[in-house]
Amino acid sequence: MSAPHPSASRSSAPQAQDPATAALETIHIDGTWQPAASGATREVLDPADATVLALVAEGGTEDTDAAVAAARRAFDDGPWPHRPVAERAGLLRRVAELLQRDREEIAITESRDTGKTLEEGRVDVDDVTAAFRYFADLVMNESGGRVVDAGDPDVHSIVVHEPVGVCALIAPWNYPLLQASWKIAPALAAGNTFVLKPSEVTPLSTVHLIRLLAEAGLPDGAANLVTGAGDPVGARLSAHPDVDLVSFTGGLASGTKVAQAAAPTVKKVALELGGKNPNVVFADACATDADFDTAVDQALNAAFFHSGQVCSAGARLIVEESVRERFVTELARRADAIRLGRGTVDGVECGPLVSAQQLAKVEAYVASARAEGAVVRSGGARPEPSDVRPASGYFYRPTVLDGCHREMTVVREETFGPILTVETFRTEEEAVRLANDTDYGLAGAVWTTDAGRARRVAGRLRHGTVWINDYHPYLPQAEWGGFGKSGTGRELGPSGLAEYRETKHIYQNLNPRPQRWFAG
Ligand code: NAD
Repeated sequence: MSAPHPSASRSSAPQAQDPATAALETIHIDGTWQPAASGATREVLDPADATVLALVAEGGTEDTDAAVAAARRAFDDGPWPHRPVAERAGLLRRVAELLQRDREEIAITESRDTGKTLEEGRVDVDDVTAAFRYFADLVMNESGGRVVDAGDPDVHSIVVHEPVGVCALIAPWNYPLLQASWKIAPALAAGNTFVLKPSEVTPLSTVHLIRLLAEAGLPDGAANLVTGAGDPVGARLSAHPDVDLVSFTGGLASGTKVAQAAAPTVKKVALELGGKNPNVVFADACATDADFDTAVDQALNAAFFHSGQVCSAGARLIVEESVRERFVTELARRADAIRLGRGTVDGVECGPLVSAQQLAKVEAYVASARAEGAVVRSGGARPEPSDVRPASGYFYRPTVLDGCHREMTVVREETFGPILTVETFRTEEEAVRLANDTDYGLAGAVWTTDAGRARRVAGRLRHGTVWINDYHPYLPQAEWGGFGKSGTGRELGPSGLAEYRETKHIYQNLNPRPQRWFAG
């Protein structure tokens, strides 16, 4: 079944294709592009009009096992884990250059596959480029081990970090290229080999990325890709005895299954899961018209960027009671004005939701919110067919739900759509309590002009990232991850590299002598 791709390492990712000519060889094992062993394929849909964008190979257990075996061989017997750090860093930098070379092509692929705007796609490519460069710099600047004073001049004791081995990398559909790269870059920087499973909903940009890794000179078998469903591909990777680590980004339900499947083999597990993120706005942040405009604008962006399909979306507005009405009125007015449409079209501000399932889920959350007493201040429905093009896309209007409280399903659960709930508070204590009143703990923000309050509240928020008077920025140098049910482990920053390493203590006795612990 392993027909090599005609131009394996040079050709670009499948884009908007005529399905009849679509590339089906989207599984990459040991340097070879191939179809699924079963011959099965999957249609990847364009969420803007529900037409078929591409056909990809639908991998199964057989493909997954072959990919793990290739990664295992490449780790145990191949050159990559032993390459000097300068070579590993050099490869990551070449990948960064290639990403920039193909920036527009990848951004278009990402936009068409996910529905996000083209500009968002470009930003993603730039962020991914920065991540590859960051991890290249990080490993180059390391000292290479920590010498420990054993208190004995005849002993040399050093703690070193080594690659963990074969990594299973499982990515979600909302940021396919970015989330995969936050795993691939540190995994390779540390000297690991991997099998990547992208989301079956949006696999196209990762096909392109794997081609760039080969073009940059990564040895065969170090990077393997299996396109296919969560079960069997992701489930098999999580349970596989030859996988040393599984790094998963996705929803809580799938993440729990990954952890359970991984437990019997006691592999390392890193989970980046969902969020239900509070955006806390104090009245003092709205004191001037300019401050008010900024706080509203950022609350809008926090909630509706990428149609709210962001793990760190500011989906819970927690606003001081005294400014609520003015704030929500302006927010709803601006939410109504957001221009929906195909992400690649100029002037479009929000694309469609990624799939019919996601659209149905969002509609169900809004229905439940209405039934539980929420007041719809904007949106709350699909757009009229005459208001959006193409009319057949999975569009949903940005929705502001007023009068919400913690007991509502829509406030507790991650909707992963363009839904903003509004809760109010009167005191700082109450604001903190509401912001922390979630099972998740991924990210949150506080808006205030009182510096002392900003630091106090930031210090008390139980979330992995806290923004003060901002929303959404992140840095490759700073760890990303969550408290509570938002996951375990961290990506980015030094901890994001440490996830992909084992720590070893080497104790060398330079002058061995008998110990005479036993007299005989
Ligand atoms: P998902 O859980 O449905 O799927 C994520 C990945 O897991 C996909 O590749 C899927 O095929 C795979 N999968 C599904 N079932 C599996 C199983 N049993 N075993 C192994 N793998 C399995 O999530 P999604 O809908 O693709 O993505 C949205 C979710 O991802 C949201 O909850 C969002 O908050 C989360 N997310 C988190 C972060 C973060 O940094 N914390 C970033 C992006 C997305």
